[in-house]
Amino acid sequence: QRCLALVRSTQFLNAYITVAEETALKQAEESEKRYQRGQPLGELDGIPIAVKDNFNTAGIETTCASNMLKGYISPYNATVVQKLLDQGAVLLGKTNLDEFAMGSGSTDGVFGPVRNPWSYSRQYKEKSIPRSDSEPENSNWVIAGGSSGGSAAAVSAFTCFAALGSDTGGSTRNPAAHCGVVGLKPTYGLISRHGLIPLVNSMDVPGILTRCVDDAAVVLGITTTYIFVCSMSLFRRLSQSKLNSIYPIYIFLFFSVSCHVSGSLAGHDPKDSTTVQDIFQPFALPTLTDVSKLSIGIPKEYHVPGLSSEILAVWSKAADLFKNAGAKVVEVSLPHTHYSIVCYHVLCTAEVASNMARFDGLEYGHRSDMSKSTESMYAATRREGFSDVVRGRILSGNYFLLKQNYEDYFVKAQKVRRLIANDFVKVFGSGIDILLTPITLSDAIPYVEFIKEDNRTRSTQDDILTQAANMAGLPAVNVPTALSERGLPIGLQFIGRSFQEKQLLTVAKWFE
Ligand code: GLN
Repeated sequence: QRCLALVRSTQFLNAYITVAEETALKQAEESEKRYQRGQPLGELDGIPIAVKDNFNTAGIETTCASNMLKGYISPYNATVVQKLLDQGAVLLGKTNLDEFAMGSGSTDGVFGPVRNPWSYSRQYKEKSIPRSDSEPENSNWVIAGGSSGGSAAAVSAFTCFAALGSDTGGSTRNPAAHCGVVGLKPTYGLISRHGLIPLVNSMDVPGILTRCVDDAAVVLGITTTYIFVCSMSLFRRLSQSKLNSIYPIYIFLFFSVSCHVSGSLAGHDPKDSTTVQDIFQPFALPTLTDVSKLSIGIPKEYHVPGLSSEILAVWSKAADLFKNAGAKVVEVSLPHTHYSIVCYHVLCTAEVASNMARFDGLEYGHRSDMSKSTESMYAATRREGFSDVVRGRILSGNYFLLKQNYEDYFVKAQKVRRLIANDFVKVFGSGIDILLTPITLSDAIPYVEFIKEDNRTRSTQDDILTQAANMAGLPAVNVPTALSERGLPIGLQFIGRSFQEKQLLTVAKWFE
């Protein structure tokens, strides 16, 4: 109830698109009863969470902040949402984003921009000078970053304890950095994408936004009694059967099932063939970590033009911190980083062109009244349903996929992607454990600045610091590190080896 009250009192942030008050209260009540019976479902039982509005939720609208899907209610829950609900998590609502997660500011959805909660902090208010007398008092509010800005703002404003975002080119880490929360992009294939409305299937991953690193680890690897309860009932049934002479084996079996599978958010999903088959082992992060045996890599190509001196200073101070703790801090090279923006652009728009084809007015959401012909209905539906940003990407993508362009653009971009990924393989192969990089070029900028045309390109530039990890499928996390002179959060990024989330989060926790 307190969280719902906070959701209401921070409505001006525009962090939520849908607030599921009734179902949330019902879920909370049920959770309360489970606690009274002494049978909570797991660590997340009763914990209020929010979910980005591009994850399908049964019974609750899923809009992707697009006219195309306004009013659309999915018949099923995304696997990740279902897993959280199975743990007893209380779903407060769906959070705001850029239309179909295309963007870096959470300014491009049909429900309006998300405001960064830090715009209203005392420190920022004192430091930010009203730009002119004629402008309203709060015209200096800064963007939340994106595209999971609603999820980041929701966690940052304390309306929930954790939120799901999605990360295709930085959309979980970027808003996490701007809103001062932890944003984890897990390894591609660790968490199911089933029910996450796709942007770029080969790069999308569900992201986790929390207040601290420990919470991210809990959400990722939630241990629960759920499977245990199932296996216990199975156990009872089996032990009444003729087979009960081998009863101790069941005990062993059921305990190992309950320990290993544990209903974790991570792990194989038959509905997403790109999820790994390996059983994920939930972990708890150690409190004290000895970082002296670690090799931290500082990629020199991340000294990109436009990186603010403030971010640079925070970055080198962080490297010193590791050095002083005895870690080896080495400059490394990821020579193909420069190509990541153009390469991402080709691959992203090509996949977008293909993905968006499903929105034709027949199957999901909006359908235009235009009924002269099926063709004209398709065209009108898409014209009315998609914004210019989305249509622009569809157009570019189809251009790159034209028969005469396919080899020159799409195939070439895929080769470049491989080179970008191989850079990481080489660096990690040379003994580096973790990479430390900035995540944004500067702290969050005011909305009025952001929406100016020239800054649009600048926001794409921000992505250079995050996209490469998506192209390589690597796990990466934003850790809130410092406050800028203007009193806004600055985050740094740790990038780890594939499927080494435990090591990544352990280092992040030490640093936090
Ligand atoms: N900013 C990038 C884009 O616009 C990344 C978006 C994302 O990660 N969803 O495509």
